[in-house]
Amino acid sequence: MSSFSFKKSLGQNFLMDKNIIHNIVDKASIDRDTLVIEVGPGQGAITKEIVPRAKYTVLYEIDNRLEKYLNKELEMYDNYKLIINDFLKEDVNKEISNYEYSKLYLVANLPYYITTPIISKLIDDNIMPDKIVIMIQKEVAQRYSAKVGSKDYGSLTVFLNYYYDIVKLFDVSRNCFNPKPNVDSTVICMTKKNDTLYVKNMYLFNKIIKDSFKYKRKTIRNNLKGYNLDIIESVLMNYNLSLNSRAENIKMEIFVEIANALSNKH
Ligand code: SAM
Repeated sequence: MSSFSFKKSLGQNFLMDKNIIHNIVDKASIDRDTLVIEVGPGQGAITKEIVPRAKYTVLYEIDNRLEKYLNKELEMYDNYKLIINDFLKEDVNKEISNYEYSKLYLVANLPYYITTPIISKLIDDNIMPDKIVIMIQKEVAQRYSAKVGSKDYGSLTVFLNYYYDIVKLFDVSRNCFNPKPNVDSTVICMTKKNDTLYVKNMYLFNKIIKDSFKYKRKTIRNNLKGYNLDIIESVLMNYNLSLNSRAENIKMEIFVEIANALSNKH
């Protein structure tokens, strides 16, 4: 597809390095019981490695110029479906209910301009793949996998950490893409936790996390002043923290405890 004119606005940086492509798909450990979702197959760099390994693959590509090309590249397979539309607008649960599978994975080199909306959709729509292996912008990967106490630790880190174990797999140089992007990339793996902690009120849990990180420099006392601070303080004290602590020093489990303690009082 040499004459293809790339659309920067769609995050079209296609992966060219065969070793990286193999590595991504190998790390996903896809097998014949796995239903794979790929967002943004592009010219099929990763897709051509996924489809032969998976039970079935559902591909979401927004750019209709790629439809014919992808179908040609995959013509020897019948275990895939290409949906030409914006992934964010699709009813993914309805689509995947058409298949029988024992594991659901999402494997993709994501369009970077919508990384967080894509991840948020997986959680908000309760799609919740068992495993997510994605290439994303390096700085975003640092935020997703940040440890408590580090500068990259934020509300999304805490929330993702509730559902997933997140590990950085490897960095990818910008030279591995065509066209070359302005940023470096990292491949991360998110594995769904078997047991999640009991949260009485998910809405409250979510809101407390967001409010706690609202002003990063401010203390919990200031960011959560609309809540019952006595209750919050009594939880924090059990962990040698106080209302003067900052959200970046509070691990996910403590946020769960705070949310549950506060929801007792409603
Ligand atoms: N997977 C290919 C690769 O690794 O070479 C292409 C990856 S490229 C970084 C991102 C792809 O996502 C592009 O093909 C782009 O057209 C597609 N894309 C962008 N926005 C999308 C959306 N909202 N829904 C589905 N696909 C989208």
